[in-house]
Amino acid sequence: MFREAIQQMTGYTPGEQPRREKVIKLNTNENAYPPSPRVVAAIEQAAAGSLQKYPDPVATAFRERAAEVLRSDLPEITPEWILCGNGSDDILTILTRTFVGEGDVLRYPNPSYVLYKTLAEIQGASVDVVDFAPDWTMGDEFAVPVDRLRLAYLANPNSPSGTVVPAERVASLAAAMPCPLVVDEAYGDFADTNCLGLVAENERVIVTRTLSKSYALAGIRFGFAIAQPKVIEQLAKVKDSYNCDMLAIAAATAAIDDQPWLADNRAKVLATRGRMITELRAKGFTVTDSQANFVWCTDSNRNLKELYESLKQMGVLVRYMPYPGWPEGIRVTVGTDEQVDALLALV
Ligand SMILES: *Cc1c(COP(=O)(O)O)cnc(C)c1O
Repeated sequence: MFREAIQQMTGYTPGEQPRREKVIKLNTNENAYPPSPRVVAAIEQAAAGSLQKYPDPVATAFRERAAEVLRSDLPEITPEWILCGNGSDDILTILTRTFVGEGDVLRYPNPSYVLYKTLAEIQGASVDVVDFAPDWTMGDEFAVPVDRLRLAYLANPNSPSGTVVPAERVASLAAAMPCPLVVDEAYGDFADTNCLGLVAENERVIVTRTLSKSYALAGIRFGFAIAQPKVIEQLAKVKDSYNCDMLAIAAATAAIDDQPWLADNRAKVLATRGRMITELRAKGFTVTDSQANFVWCTDSNRNLKELYESLKQMGVLVRYMPYPGWPEGIRVTVGTDEQVDALLALV
């Protein structure tokens, strides 16, 4: 009774979410700190309001505030350039459903975010996986036309590497590509640069963002896409009518309104990231320079699966990631300084 495509696929496995409270959780790139106190106040205020009513289907309050905040990177932006979703995973689902049909091709890099594969499989589409170079640059193959190629994803900064393909390079890849390019900037707020400016230059560039990481709101589920208004118009047809609830819209609006909180949090995360990289390198790991809130560690002299297991036994969760054909590695989220010290004492 199931569609062939669904029966064949394995499904996405999210990172472990242990129920034990005491675990030091450095495996799913959540923010190390709680969100702006203004977020909690906004949720309380919204909850005291009219929960019996449906929410604003297009999260107008958030889009208005976000447009003001993003104007420094994209002067053309207005609320019509923004589509909100129930986490950016919802946005990625909407994008895939909009552009990719049965038998079509979806392209993404490797090693990268494995959800892209799942989204293609749900559609009954094929995947075209393009490997990064060993130094995490992206070759021209990423832009080469193939039959039925309908959409490409590029996580930038990438996970698990934390590396960035520079905006000029993304622009030239997008210009050469026969299909839209989604630049998944889930970690964009931690990076030195971003690709928002490209959205005005090229209608086929779509940038996605989330409040899960940089705004410390993984528990709320709120993400958004930035694209030219004619693109947003089509995407809006595909989304669920009320895909963001009233409390999430209130929370996200308060969060993006508190830019001093973002700047302060970013500074703390980047300071700890720098220290983590230095100290992990001193312990013999090969650590890639990171522009995200996690670091990617390899070490050909250690069994990293065993290291992951033993850290887990001792109450520290990291993400062990074996990508076939690549050196195995562990991805470690930038925690608080205390959490990082606890990890460093064990490796
Ligand atoms: C965390 C993450 C997302 C999803 O974020 P949500 O908004 O929590 O759904 C998307 N892309 C990448 C690369 C991520 O790491």
